[in-house]
Amino acid sequence: MKEIILCKLGETILKGANRSNFESILLRSLRRRAETCGRFRVYMLQSTVYIEPQDETCDLTRMHELACRVFGLVGVVRAAECEKNMEAILACARDYLPPLMAGVRRFRVDAKRSDKSFPVPSPEIAARVGGVILASVPGCRVDLHDPEAEIRVEVRDRCAYVHAGQTPGAGGLPYGSSGRGMLLLSGGIDSPVAGYLMAKRGLALDAVYFETPPYTSQQAREKVLTLADKLCVYTGRLRVHVISLTEIQETLMRDCDEDYFTLLLRRFMMRLAQACAREQGCEALVTGESLGQVASQTLASMAVTGAGLEMPLFRPCVGLDKSEIIAYARRIDTFETSILPYEDCCTVFTPRHPHTKPRPDAFEAELAKVDFDGLCERALATRETVERRMK
Ligand code: ATP
Ligand code: MG
Repeated sequence: MKEIILCKLGETILKGANRSNFESILLRSLRRRAETCGRFRVYMLQSTVYIEPQDETCDLTRMHELACRVFGLVGVVRAAECEKNMEAILACARDYLPPLMAGVRRFRVDAKRSDKSFPVPSPEIAARVGGVILASVPGCRVDLHDPEAEIRVEVRDRCAYVHAGQTPGAGGLPYGSSGRGMLLLSGGIDSPVAGYLMAKRGLALDAVYFETPPYTSQQAREKVLTLADKLCVYTGRLRVHVISLTEIQETLMRDCDEDYFTLLLRRFMMRLAQACAREQGCEALVTGESLGQVASQTLASMAVTGAGLEMPLFRPCVGLDKSEIIAYARRIDTFETSILPYEDCCTVFTPRHPHTKPRPDAFEAELAKVDFDGLCERALATRETVERRMK
């Protein structure tokens, strides 16, 4: 018996003329992951991606797990393939399903014929496969309304497939189908979630991390790289550009009003991120900001920190509560890393009375006290790039 993986496309099927572009990006993502699991053939047929092992050594379990993290898919399922006739389908159900249904008491069977010329109607296929299960899985019965296992038979163009329930896919659009953006990745909870949310909408990512040595430690940098590793589960790989803010922070401390400190620093971060983005071919910025979360994220603060950018700035967490962001962070397994207690450049010098309603003219006057362009240029020259990959 041959077991394969079938992947069901999500929103991609709604795309019109450029659908094939979405599909080829999706196939490329899946092929790259398949390479790490053995020799697989990966192709698209009838809005379904087929992932077929080419020999015995292929790791189907890992491939299934990886495919569940590929954006653009709504369902991923392991299925047994058989010939398109009733005898073969029944024999396949008898061999394949009992081990998967151990302990199951209630099940239902659905059949679907995308090949309408198949002579047996769907309800009859379902009933006969149900009969095989009743005879071969002890102690189980049919329950159409509250099944523990949903068995499915699909009669497709070339073959028929039997499976015991589909795993939800990662949703979204194929990674890279929406262009490329620069994620401002800190060690906090919000920015990895922001990266995940934009990657899910098809935005390929680079990341920039700002540090302030020696005020911030190597451990703080390692923590951010660990977060990058966690994002790689979805992105495949991630380049992290590390830029030092030490000179900028020391200058701001020396020359500017303390109450504007965080806002000024944010303006620098945005500009540096934009410059780095341009260099790397990114066309958008992404932050983990959430409206009203802290003083630097009020509406008036965001107006000054994000002013003057020449590319879109995405803040996908802007309308989420902290508890909702944390729920995402747990789901993508970044939460435990994010709460490790290492200092961040923003916590090194914190104003005692930060402005929550900064006046743009007063803000610009503070900024004019320093050599903005020169500081940016020298900060950019400190850039180091670290490349992380899916493990
Ligand atoms: P937290 O979960 O503590 O809020 P955070 O990463 O959101 O963590 P904030 O101080 O709220 O931290 O910063 C707002 C946004 O600014 C971050 O989501 C991130 O996009 C960006 N940012 C802050 N500090 C850095 C940094 N050191 N390097 C890169 N980006 C940063
Ligand atoms: Mg935050």
